[in-house]
Amino acid sequence: MASRSRVAKEEQSFVVRRSRIAGRGAFATRDIAKGDRIIEYVGERISHGVSDERYGDVDTDAHHTFLFNVNRSVVIDASFGGNDSRFINHSCNPNCESEIEKGRVYIDAIRNIRKGDELTYDYAYGRDGTETLEDETDIYVCRCGAKKCRGTILEPITKAERKKLEAKAKVRHHDKHAPSREPQRRTK
Ligand SMILES: [Zn+2]
Repeated sequence: MASRSRVAKEEQSFVVRRSRIAGRGAFATRDIAKGDRIIEYVGERISHGVSDERYGDVDTDAHHTFLFNVNRSVVIDASFGGNDSRFINHSCNPNCESEIEKGRVYIDAIRNIRKGDELTYDYAYGRDGTETLEDETDIYVCRCGAKKCRGTILEPITKAERKKLEAKAKVRHHDKHAPSREPQRRTK
């Protein structure tokens, strides 16, 4: 187990090429066994504050998928000093997972993977409660193609939480399009 922590470059078990999921992706160059450590997710370690400064008010689209939220104080920005791990795409039905050990992040296989398969893990981006339904289908949309794709790379939420989100969306919609103070008629 101890020897799993480092993956030498020459042992890298995947190549990066165009992906149907998004942009570039990582594809296995040999069979990989369930449980194998594939690569460490590396890059510049920055605070959430710095991350927000860098990407907060840009159209996050181009950048956010190179950020890995390690914990409450550290984000890894793989745009700086990142390796090929940053090209591993998200899937709602992944064959890998991210594992955080002592503040370091590794990508491990959670299934047996065949040569040629695209490697994926569930980004499960943390929510802070400010996300809207539009964010799910706009900034954080998922097009992984899995049968049970949840439509977003944001972390899954419970049905109750989803209802709240939908209620919030209705209120916002009302604010935008019906600014009058007339009593509301329920349509459903
Ligand atoms: Zn999906």
